[in-house]
Amino acid sequence: MGQIKVLDQNMINMIAAGEVIERPASVIKELMENSIDAGATKITVAIEDGGRKSISITDDGCGMDAEDLAQAFEPHTTSKIKTSADLSRISTLGFRGEALASIASVAQVKAVSRTKNAVGANCMEIDCESKSSVGPCSGDYGTTIQVRDLFYKLPARRKFLRTANTEMTHITEHFIRIALGSYFAVNPTAVLPADPPASSRKGFDLTLIHNGREIHRLLADQTLNQRITELFSSELAENLIETEANERGIHIFGLFGRPDTSRTSGKFQYVFLNGRFIRDKFISHAIKEAYRGLIEQNRFPIIFLFIEMPYKDYDVNVHPTKIEVRFYNANLVHSQILGCLREKLLSTDLQPHAQLPIVAVPRTHHDRPTGTHRSQEITDAMAEFFKKHRPTDRQELSQVSTTKPFKAPSATSAQTMAQQRTDTTVATGPVEKKIMQIHDSYIVQQIQDGFIIIDQHALHERILYEALCRRIKQNKLESQRLLIPDSFELTDTQQNIIDTNRPLIEKLGIELAPFGPKTYAVQAFPILLSRATPADFVRDLIDLLDDKGTELSAEELLDEVLKMAACKAAIKAGQRLSNAEIEQLLEDRKHTERASQCPHGRPTAIKFTLSDLEKQFKRT
Ligand code: ADP
Ligand code: MG
Repeated sequence: MGQIKVLDQNMINMIAAGEVIERPASVIKELMENSIDAGATKITVAIEDGGRKSISITDDGCGMDAEDLAQAFEPHTTSKIKTSADLSRISTLGFRGEALASIASVAQVKAVSRTKNAVGANCMEIDCESKSSVGPCSGDYGTTIQVRDLFYKLPARRKFLRTANTEMTHITEHFIRIALGSYFAVNPTAVLPADPPASSRKGFDLTLIHNGREIHRLLADQTLNQRITELFSSELAENLIETEANERGIHIFGLFGRPDTSRTSGKFQYVFLNGRFIRDKFISHAIKEAYRGLIEQNRFPIIFLFIEMPYKDYDVNVHPTKIEVRFYNANLVHSQILGCLREKLLSTDLQPHAQLPIVAVPRTHHDRPTGTHRSQEITDAMAEFFKKHRPTDRQELSQVSTTKPFKAPSATSAQTMAQQRTDTTVATGPVEKKIMQIHDSYIVQQIQDGFIIIDQHALHERILYEALCRRIKQNKLESQRLLIPDSFELTDTQQNIIDTNRPLIEKLGIELAPFGPKTYAVQAFPILLSRATPADFVRDLIDLLDDKGTELSAEELLDEVLKMAACKAAIKAGQRLSNAEIEQLLEDRKHTERASQCPHGRPTAIKFTLSDLEKQFKRT
């Protein structure tokens, strides 16, 4: 009796903070959203020690006067909604009135703000709830909020903060979402006419600084493509297909990747609703449907999708972090997106771009050559390269000039096959032991009491996986230096992932080295994976590490990586094999453990006995 008590306000705020403020990145998200809602055109985010030490956000927005400043950090205070009717037409990013109060309940905060027509700024300091009074200070138009020592009075919470690199990865992700979303945060009151065209709209000036180093500087007048180049890479930005539709009250603008650029996770799917980054299962499903038959089931296309529709047609008051929304007509949203994407995908030439030889010329993303200019550059660079690195024998040279820049020496079945591929003709007809390849995907082999049909990809995947497990248990994988380093662009976050996972990458026998601004090159690559393209492989590896790196144990992670490696380096379905390759595959099958199943548990072979056949033909 008498056990139930009303919590004091500080406790209430701390509990609310648990929902909204999970880590430094959540502070950045909430404060940047406030700056955008305040009409800022320029926002600077400066972080120290992954946000654990300090986070400071400066904007040139409308600012607050002394009275509002004193009020803003109180719980449930907002200038964005007034009546319940406002709740059903929210046009701002914030509206719950709890971010500032939550942040101030778990950190030391200093806020300086000045409205456009005020003579001076006002300042207030808060230390986990205990507030100073508001007093005048010097300061520009707009608002600066500095948050120090997040969770310092909550050791249990602070313990959950990860390394500065990891926290920075989360912060950068939120920065990217806001940087892309704010491109379209233009407060539509109804569906916007696409005027000016969506792709040429203007963004905000946004800067992200970590420990004094500028990570991103995005200018308001850059195009969306330039912004994507800056945030990700020119490789990614250049290969996007554009589409736009404006029907039935929904305006859609999308930039999406060709099927051959799909990724192993949905991380590169950015969906914005009236400038707000959201995750929505109907939209994810529509995207997946649009690519049906064009990519494998477990791959995810790259997409930047900007949806604009009247505020009254959905509800954002679903989740404290406002990442989910409820559409009143989800089917319509689904069908409009599916239709818009599918139509464009079907009317676009989706042939994968022929892979040009990979050349050792570091380049910046400002002067990336295109078209014929690029081929000339490549030819020149090749000539230059060979002048400097004269191959030791003719054979190496001819390997380079024919197809792939990298071919491994014979060491295992995979390599033996890779080498023999050129010396035998195609094996579509029966060979001595009554074996044949059908549809370039299956191998049919006569056995004593019938025949078996082997799935060439699944079997080779198992063979490689077992070989990889065996080798890696003994030592690191044996690698081969690439004659021509395979270079690719990386974001800061991806570079962090490489740094964090160095030991694992080395164990795989992959050697990576910086190769110019934001560019890395694969210098050496495991012999066992010689069928995979080094840069592609590393990109998928980074995605996987990013996706699973923190949730799996080191051992489980290595296993996931080896499975992926086996899958990527295995013979594909649809690949014609020589007699020698088929025989090698069957030979390896005999010596491989668990050869009946691929590493994902699917069968590699199906057996038909003579008695099965006799029954079918009604001979018995
Ligand atoms: P919400 O954004 O949901 O309204 P917050 O706690 O984030 O709640 O902010 C409370 C109020 O403080 C806002 O409604 C706004 O009036 C004011 N405010 C916060 N940040 C800024 C800013 N950067 N510039 C101007 N006003 C701000
Ligand atoms: Mg807010």
